[in-house]
Amino acid sequence: MSEIRKHYFLHEYCIIAEERAKRPSDFAGAVRGSEKNDSENCVFCGGNEEKTPPATAVYKNGEVFADTGEKRVRNWDFRCFPNLYPALSPASSFPESFGKKSEVIPGFGFHEVIVESPVHGKKLEDFSDTEISGLMKVYRDRVCHYAAHEKISYVSLFKNSGKAAGASQDHPHSQLIALPVCPQVIEKELIAIRDAQKCPYCALLEKEKISPRLILENNDFIAFAPYYSTVPFEVWILPKKHISFLGELSSGLLFALGEILRDILRSYAKLFGDLPYNHMFYQLFETTEYHLNLRLLPRLSTAAGFELNTGIYINTVSPEKAASYLKGNE
Ligand SMILES: [Zn+2]
Ligand SMILES: [Zn+2]
Repeated sequence: MSEIRKHYFLHEYCIIAEERAKRPSDFAGAVRGSEKNDSENCVFCGGNEEKTPPATAVYKNGEVFADTGEKRVRNWDFRCFPNLYPALSPASSFPESFGKKSEVIPGFGFHEVIVESPVHGKKLEDFSDTEISGLMKVYRDRVCHYAAHEKISYVSLFKNSGKAAGASQDHPHSQLIALPVCPQVIEKELIAIRDAQKCPYCALLEKEKISPRLILENNDFIAFAPYYSTVPFEVWILPKKHISFLGELSSGLLFALGEILRDILRSYAKLFGDLPYNHMFYQLFETTEYHLNLRLLPRLSTAAGFELNTGIYINTVSPEKAASYLKGNE
């Protein structure tokens, strides 16, 4: 029997339809593996720094540098530079004010690539403690950098891993797009959060901590398959304390975040091998009402006519089952 499940605090629904017990191996066709990992001519690889725009931030042995003119910093750990094909650009002038009814706003914003390693085939699940917490620090720094800009209202930080997840480069990297507007998904959540007595994320955290959907936790974070899961093996990671954006994370918390993210990616790798997925941060720096969360969406299914028509996703693996697999119980 299928089940229509409502989102924790939004008027949104998904359908959990396990017509047959799907095992991770049933998704073999959606998993990469045959994709070639071509490091030749890769512009993100260490040594090819000239082939990208000058870096805005280069992390090397715990220090931060920037490329100056034609001179490029070598032997780096992490490297951030403007996307060569930006969705938004600081060159567009953004009006001092614009009404909500404005139909066209210049494409002002920032689009940055964060290269996670100079090594081509390196995977986040294989990062050392220093590398994974280093990357979380880069995430925090770059979000803070753009959050400080007076015309920026939202910073979208995400990773596309694998062609099916929208990656055009297979070298490990994340991206950041800083927007002059707050996206509707966040605004909708904010309205519901303001309507609630208590932060709905703090409330759902208490509930999921003792549910069969809990996958793992450390002192500061919890990872679970959400009750409202739109795709098979969706995972949410939440800080246990009410924190609104990455800028509030201490180095201890950054380490704990990197550790739990790496643990989930290792579970994915164990079940699926090279799984295409997106991970995305949801956060707000303009208000403390929001509760930071990181969502991982494996790309094992395709949104088709029904999903596009209704916004209701049909998920063939229940989050309870997914959590059990990710915990290594099955
Ligand atoms: Zn490369
Ligand atoms: Zn909260």
